[in-house]
Amino acid sequence: MSILTQSAAFIARSCARLLAQDCLLCAADSRSSLLCTACADDLPRLPADYCPRCALPTPAGEVCGRCLRQAPHYDAA
Ligand SMILES: [Zn+2]
Ligand SMILES: [Zn+2]
Repeated sequence: MSILTQSAAFIARSCARLLAQDCLLCAADSRSSLLCTACADDLPRLPADYCPRCALPTPAGEVCGRCLRQAPHYDAA
């Protein structure tokens, strides 16, 4: 390992240590991420198939009945 590579690795480790941050939700150590892995895993995710307009779950990813009856004032969520 060259001195340049060692220096770069040292700088990277120092920056990671200096810039380490706490999770925005629970204040646990989250390294360089905004959320810790526990909080990130706990967040709800969009279903596989959802309305392209409002993102509500729909059986085959088609536009939902609510958006068909009265389209929202936005194009997509
Ligand atoms: Zn957290
Ligand atoms: Zn919809």
